[in-house]
Amino acid sequence: MELIVARNREDLVKARRGGDVALVPTMGALHEGHRSLIRQARVRADQVVVSVFVNPLQFSPNEDFSRYPRTFDADLDVCRAEGVDVVFHPAVEDMYPPGRQVSVSAGEMGNIVEGAFRPGHFDGVLTVVLKLFNLVRPDLAVFGQKDAQQLALIRRMVADLDLPIEILGGPTVREPDGLALSSRNRYLSESDRRVALTLSRALRAGAAQFDPSQIRATAQDVLDAAGPELDLDYLALVDPATFREVGESYEGTAVLAVAARVGDTRLIDNVTLTLNPH
Ligand code: AMP
Repeated sequence: MELIVARNREDLVKARRGGDVALVPTMGALHEGHRSLIRQARVRADQVVVSVFVNPLQFSPNEDFSRYPRTFDADLDVCRAEGVDVVFHPAVEDMYPPGRQVSVSAGEMGNIVEGAFRPGHFDGVLTVVLKLFNLVRPDLAVFGQKDAQQLALIRRMVADLDLPIEILGGPTVREPDGLALSSRNRYLSESDRRVALTLSRALRAGAAQFDPSQIRATAQDVLDAAGPELDLDYLALVDPATFREVGESYEGTAVLAVAARVGDTRLIDNVTLTLNPH
């Protein structure tokens, strides 16, 4: 089947066939992490739509919107290789025509952890995701656990606004040395990359501990040892549904999340762990 490139709602309607539609939203510069989500979608749906859209709404003025990697031809090759049916690639002017007023608020959960460092980011994410849902009208959508707070907020939006869409999470795909794949990794110099490895190393060290205080302290020690080249925004041990910090007596699944700048590149990573009573 020939890959269809859709630019607008009309193209999407024409491309629609019967059966379940899965959407995989991306900002392009596709890598193995995206591919794993596409494969998950492929297994679950009759038609797979991948959106490629660098969403200006989720970048603040001091962030990297203009220099975010755009590799659309290579992305099309990846989508063809993965058997994607439709690539939705709208223009910014079509998604956000002048006069726009209404948007989605991520609420309090949008202002904590990652949201505390990126004001307005999650409002921008939820607004574009809701628009993509309304344009593509998928039965299910797949998001990466790599952006754990984003995934939690999308689940929250689906529940709070009664969206008839099933949300699937995909595990984080990593390099053999542990670095989480990211479109932004291409900005890293060789020495940046060595420093960036501290993130996943700190998460693994933390996850090998048992109490919240030990987990935090162990991960923090690894981050501190990286020296000034690693500019830490936060290390947080949170409830995966609410992103609130967990207390010493918390039991169940938790997320240990980290964000840091290495050179000019901001990186995030997280691991899921289980806190048992003992
Ligand atoms: P992005 O293009 O960075 O906005 O990411 C699009 C989707 O791919 C999001 O749902 C991300 O969470 C997911 N994603 C990004 N990196 C990875 C990774 N290393 N492994 C799995 N999913 C990822």
